[in-house]
Amino acid sequence: MDTLIQGAREFQKRDFHEYKERFEQIATQQNPHTLFITCCDSRVVPSLITKTIPGELFIVRNIANIVPYYRLTVEYVSTTSAIEYAVQILNVQNIIICGHSDCGGCGALFYDDDVLAKIPNTQKWLELAKPVKERIEKIKIENSEEKQVMTEKENVLEQIEHLKTYPYIKDRCANSTLKIMGWYYMLNTGEIQNYDYALKKFIQIV
Ligand SMILES: [Zn+2]
Repeated sequence: MDTLIQGAREFQKRDFHEYKERFEQIATQQNPHTLFITCCDSRVVPSLITKTIPGELFIVRNIANIVPYYRLTVEYVSTTSAIEYAVQILNVQNIIICGHSDCGGCGALFYDDDVLAKIPNTQKWLELAKPVKERIEKIKIENSEEKQVMTEKENVLEQIEHLKTYPYIKDRCANSTLKIMGWYYMLNTGEIQNYDYALKKFIQIV
């Protein structure tokens, strides 16, 4: 905890001053260009890996960068309302779904039932990635590392499909005012791959 308090002091002393003008400029309004949907994982730092400054990314984080299917509901929906606000009110121009290597959420798709019993809410949440699990199991990959990477990438594509169930996103994509990208971030190298819709594969961003 002391580290965090010390960090807050140092932020105030150094970093805030470095970006003082920017912080003042965005103090009463935000105009982010991108909705960035990624995992809760502590090792994924959106602003760092995209070299963006405060005010540029509207960020949604959840276990395994999942997008629930569109529905109107009386439940308390965090991810769905954040997507709605970003697109309908902030008018973002891009949505990036950013998966990553060594994703615990994607790995948990294959946990045994007794382990999942300890995390019932996570288990329920991961039902939204069930089609990914089914596709991967059908391929029968022997190598566990390869299976993990393929699950993480397939999950990005699955969640892009879920985004398209949102009527206002579908409309904005159809009239080219919104672009959806699928990214895969590699923790060990810092490299990012972007899904190429024409080539149907992830291509490294250089
Ligand atoms: Zn993750």
